[in-house]
Amino acid sequence: MTILIQTDPVPAEVFAREIRLLSPGTAIADDPAKVDPASIEAILAWKLNDGIAGRLPNLRLVCSMASGVDKILPAKDLASHLPVVRIVDAAQALAMAQYVVVMALRHVRGLATFEAQQRAREWKRIPPPQPYTFTAAVLGLGGTGKAVASLLRQVGINVVGWSRTPKQLDGIDTFTGTDGLATALGRSNIAVCLLPSTPETAGVLNRETLGQLRPGSYLINVARGAHVVEADLAALIRSGHLAGAALDVQSQEPMPKDHALWDVPNLTITPHSSAEPPAATVAAQLLAALEQARAGKVPVNAVDRTKGY
Ligand code: NAP
Repeated sequence: MTILIQTDPVPAEVFAREIRLLSPGTAIADDPAKVDPASIEAILAWKLNDGIAGRLPNLRLVCSMASGVDKILPAKDLASHLPVVRIVDAAQALAMAQYVVVMALRHVRGLATFEAQQRAREWKRIPPPQPYTFTAAVLGLGGTGKAVASLLRQVGINVVGWSRTPKQLDGIDTFTGTDGLATALGRSNIAVCLLPSTPETAGVLNRETLGQLRPGSYLINVARGAHVVEADLAALIRSGHLAGAALDVQSQEPMPKDHALWDVPNLTITPHSSAEPPAATVAAQLLAALEQARAGKVPVNAVDRTKGY
């Protein structure tokens, strides 16, 4: 049996090497046209194109190489009974929390102002902020959102949270629903997006919702570009309602040279580089899920395909 790897832009060999180490007998392919379709038992993918899964009669499992499955579930020929699993990794969540804390503290400590003063050779003292005078709304309280919320609190930033279903988290007021989102954002001057990309969350950060943040707020999006209406974000930064944003993800990746976001002031743009699971972890979780699928069990970390995450 063969594992098909479709992880472009990450080379298939990155994962193939780790799969071979853990399971030397496993055959691996990266081109579905060059193998017997009946031999393919699992797909490891970043994006699953139409016209692949439907041709594989013995496919048991699709595994995302990431925590999101938004580029896999839309495949038109993915049979509804097939389990789709995602990677869940504490080290990745910690790396994400580091990224968010760096960007949040950049805003809290006014680094952009100090950098501008330095460029102008201007030594002008600004009183430092007291801890716990900033509040971050963490949107999405899954494994990653919780890790981010925890590290934000450790560096002296209050946290409120928003999720689809109610949550009880120590020291964090949590909210659900449209009214709950307005309440969470209205109490915050930082918003952190850690939602999965689903039809319900597309464009959730728009003129109206970003406008609910307190004046001078900062957005950190580390989830997917589809969550943010980028033209609305740009308008709110240019109007001064938002102080700026850190965007690790964008509507179009890679961002072309003429992308409108490049010209928006006070943006920190990073190329989808906030966090990723180690390839060895991906290989281990893929092989474990495949064993579970072979045994007729629902694999650990299978997504709920009706919810989309
Ligand atoms: P997760 O464990 O599935 O958690 C998702 C959270 O979002 C849950 O709390 C869920 O609510 C909430 N949610 C989902 N739909 C919602 C809705 N319509 N309204 C309000 N809340 C909603 O996911 P995760 O592992 O924390 O990761 C979250 C996302 O971050 C991933 O899907 C991925 O796209 C992104 N990510 C990006 C990178 C990167 O490199 N930039 C790295 C890691 C993750 P419930 O708890 O009620 O279900």
